[in-house]
Amino acid sequence: MIARHNPVDVVVVDVVVVGAGVIGLGIAHTLAQSGRSVTVVDAQPASGATYAAAGMLAPVSEFHYQEEHLLELMRASAALYPEFIASLGLADAADAGYVRSKTISVGFDSGDRAALSDLRAVQVANGLAVEPLTIREVRTLEPMLSPRLSVAYSIEHDHQVDPRRLTACLRQAIEGVNGTATGTATGTATGTATGTAILQNAVALLHEHPLDLTSRVIGVVLDDGSEVRAGDVILANGLAAATIAGLPHWLDLSLRPVFGDILRLRVPDQLRPLITATVRGLVRGIPIYLVPRNDGTIVIGATQREDGSPAVSAGGVYQLLRDAQELIPAVAELELIEMTARARPGTPDNAPLVGRVDGIAGLVIATGFFRHGVLLTPIAAQICREILDGGADDRWAQFRPDRFSVSGHRSPATASGTTASGTTASRTPALRTPDVPMERAHD
Ligand SMILES: Cc1cc2nc3c(=O)[nH]c(=O)nc-3n(C[C@H](O)[C@H](O)[C@H](O)COP(=O)(O)OP(=O)(O)OC[C@H]3O[C@@H](n4cnc5c(N)ncnc54)[C@H](O)[C@@H]3O)c2cc1C
Repeated sequence: MIARHNPVDVVVVDVVVVGAGVIGLGIAHTLAQSGRSVTVVDAQPASGATYAAAGMLAPVSEFHYQEEHLLELMRASAALYPEFIASLGLADAADAGYVRSKTISVGFDSGDRAALSDLRAVQVANGLAVEPLTIREVRTLEPMLSPRLSVAYSIEHDHQVDPRRLTACLRQAIEGVNGTATGTATGTATGTATGTAILQNAVALLHEHPLDLTSRVIGVVLDDGSEVRAGDVILANGLAAATIAGLPHWLDLSLRPVFGDILRLRVPDQLRPLITATVRGLVRGIPIYLVPRNDGTIVIGATQREDGSPAVSAGGVYQLLRDAQELIPAVAELELIEMTARARPGTPDNAPLVGRVDGIAGLVIATGFFRHGVLLTPIAAQICREILDGGADDRWAQFRPDRFSVSGHRSPATASGTTASGTTASRTPALRTPDVPMERAHD
């Protein structure tokens, strides 16, 4: 049960997590399992990018030129997934929509063939397994694929999870753990540790010295003016992270919305299973993916727009259906049940912002997961737990959240693709033609 917070209360817990998307919930679950009392605050849990996400866990096929710095993080998180799912205590991992089926990558024309072959060379050079399939082999595996394909590869280790089911399971698991935990309050205010989730947004950070925004963060103020006091605050509210009051003025999180349109369709009984593997295709150089779910639906995605519009794009829907049908002609016979648009939390170097802010005790930031937040949830949770435990893996220091901040505290980031002023670097997708009317995302 989600606890409703009485405005006059002050809740005191070990950790308050702001944001109940897949990242915030994953972190809260891991921290609750470590014995900490945890409260998650979010007026609309799992309603952001997580709601739209296809849930591909794809460190191999998501590996892009110019994003080599992400590969180790993505592989580490993919390796943690089985253990992360097991920690939910489900009777069956499929209850969270976790399916370890393979991914197949296909293309049509000579340009697609060359692009996929070049990409495979880079993937293999980086130690990733991408095996060629003959057209006969791929059509034996997936008979509904178009006979006009000219190239195919098999990627055994790219799997999927259903983000909506995963977040539902995470919420249940958090309540299960915290429902029996006795909160070891570390704050100084009076109050009791209650519930595990509060259906309100946080509006401001509470500082030990209210006029000093670099002093220790000791909690958050909620919409209704009530407070959650905590030893640590984890800011995991996606794109909105930079808008919370009480962050120091010099901290530049450089988040930007990268919108994506995505479709859900139901496969009629006579066509099931339409596909058994996740199919990623290039159609005239434009990437598209189809992800089959156990419930007989498929997810088709996704566009990538920076036009500022949160509405579903008609042009985007048209292009997705057109290209999906080219890949699998029977797509025309499916029932279109949902069109969704959400914004991915992008950063200048496409890498997340995760870690402590230099010089500010009590605050950890975990946002900017862009196209990979579902995949990166277990590693984000592990990084946060290690930070709170007092240790942190040096490999992830490059993702510190203050790397774009220009101040006495931090120099500008020098990560690949990031300019000294923190402006957006070129993010040309690996595979696209110059006349594409709307970018297509690989996520
Ligand atoms: C079309 C599309 C397809 C995608 N496909 C994939 C994929 O296949 N694989 C993959 O790994 N990733 C994918 N992604 C990316 C993934 O969805 C994101 O990286 C991930 O969801 C980010 O999670 P998050 O929890 O940081 O943010 P969100 O899911 O956006 O959650 C943020 C939460 O914070 C809450 N919030 C906001 N402000 C406040 C506040 N002030 N106080 C409290 N709470 C607040 C919101 O209500 C929301 O619930 C996709 C994204 C899109 C849009």
